[in-house]
Amino acid sequence: MVLLPGILILFMTFNDLNLIEPILLALQKEGYTTPTPIQEQSIPFLLQGKDLLGCAQTGTGKTAAFAIPILQTLHQQHAERNHKTLKTLILTPTRELAIQIGESFAAYGKGLNLKHTVIFGGVPQGAQVQALRAGVEILIATPGRLLDLVNQGLISFKEISIFVLDEADRMLDMGFIHDVKKVIAKLPLKRQTLFFSATMPPEIQKLANTILVDPLIVKVTPPATTAETVGQSVYFVDKKDKRQLLTYVLNDKSIERVLVFTRTKHGADKVVKDLEKVDIVAEAIHGNKSQNARQRALSNFKDGKIRVLVATDIAARGIDVDLLSHVINYEIPEVPETYVHRIGRTGRAGASGIAFSFCDSEERTDWKNIEKLTGQKIPVVTNHPYPMAAEGMVHINPPKNKEIVHRPNAIHSSPARKRNPNFR
Ligand code: AMP
Repeated sequence: MVLLPGILILFMTFNDLNLIEPILLALQKEGYTTPTPIQEQSIPFLLQGKDLLGCAQTGTGKTAAFAIPILQTLHQQHAERNHKTLKTLILTPTRELAIQIGESFAAYGKGLNLKHTVIFGGVPQGAQVQALRAGVEILIATPGRLLDLVNQGLISFKEISIFVLDEADRMLDMGFIHDVKKVIAKLPLKRQTLFFSATMPPEIQKLANTILVDPLIVKVTPPATTAETVGQSVYFVDKKDKRQLLTYVLNDKSIERVLVFTRTKHGADKVVKDLEKVDIVAEAIHGNKSQNARQRALSNFKDGKIRVLVATDIAARGIDVDLLSHVINYEIPEVPETYVHRIGRTGRAGASGIAFSFCDSEERTDWKNIEKLTGQKIPVVTNHPYPMAAEGMVHINPPKNKEIVHRPNAIHSSPARKRNPNFR
């Protein structure tokens, strides 16, 4: 709560959440001042030991919403407990998410003496086993590797008192749900359970009903306000010209780090290949790539070794890259909410970002739906070299060349059309 002379402004700060000093300091260092809605709503209840059903996805601040109360709870129990026993398990579907969650625990728990480690498949188990043997209180894991190590007798769940299931719907998507159920079956019954899922398909709802006891239910969507901090514009372009338009746009060196979205995995690979032909280094990240390849691409991107990362929506959901200057929607998403999630990857935490969208004639309806959802008329870029061969233009400026016959959505362009910017 903040008080100004004569005015009472009611908005919550982290100081209102009864957090301990080292956590408040760590949050300050991270530059967080105000809790996000999911943090504001969940943290007080989680500190009381309640179960939670969080309908939320990446971008809402859900990681801190569970990491902060877990750290505080374990810290407060610390004196009474054996520091080397596993007490909290966080199950997450991908290696990228596991690593990011690990980084969050490291950041928010900086001033606390709590040990955590991250385990995932696709790499030798040696270093992970060593970390486990040294003793950890918080374990962040993907399901396959976790079960593997449990079956080898290297992990005991006996003392686990807090369990977090992250991105449950994605576990289902990726075929991990049986492994998840096997893990849950091995956990102590007496525990606090936090369940997160962006969507609630029936199987996930059923699982939530069976493992949660009288949960607090919090539903949030990634802040629509992200759209306000992101400068948006749209290029209307023929499908066949998107390739050249992308090269043209990427010639602008002020684009430091850009995430390019495609609808399909194949489409993502194709964009990378097309960019290679014009000497622009890019990498793709999607479900058909091995965990190692995905992680390598992501680190190269984060380290600034590559400027362009091409991703599908599912693969991008876990990507959290600070200082992402641009997002390019190479293909317009069919589901309008996806657009908001995509552009929310840039302009994080108050930083400004830029989102370009390439819309072809077949995507116009999807684009209209996006404008309807966001309630915004997104500015159109007209002065670019690949304007769409629009239907209406034929009447305004009929081509002299008889061989160019207008057909609706025809994939051709005349010089006259290219010159005329009024292609909306
Ligand atoms: P998440 O939804 O957990 O993936 O978090 C999305 C992003 O928001 C991450 O980059 C966090 O570092 C950032 N974040 C989380 N909570 C806050 C907050 N209260 N204020 C500012 N940024 C935050």
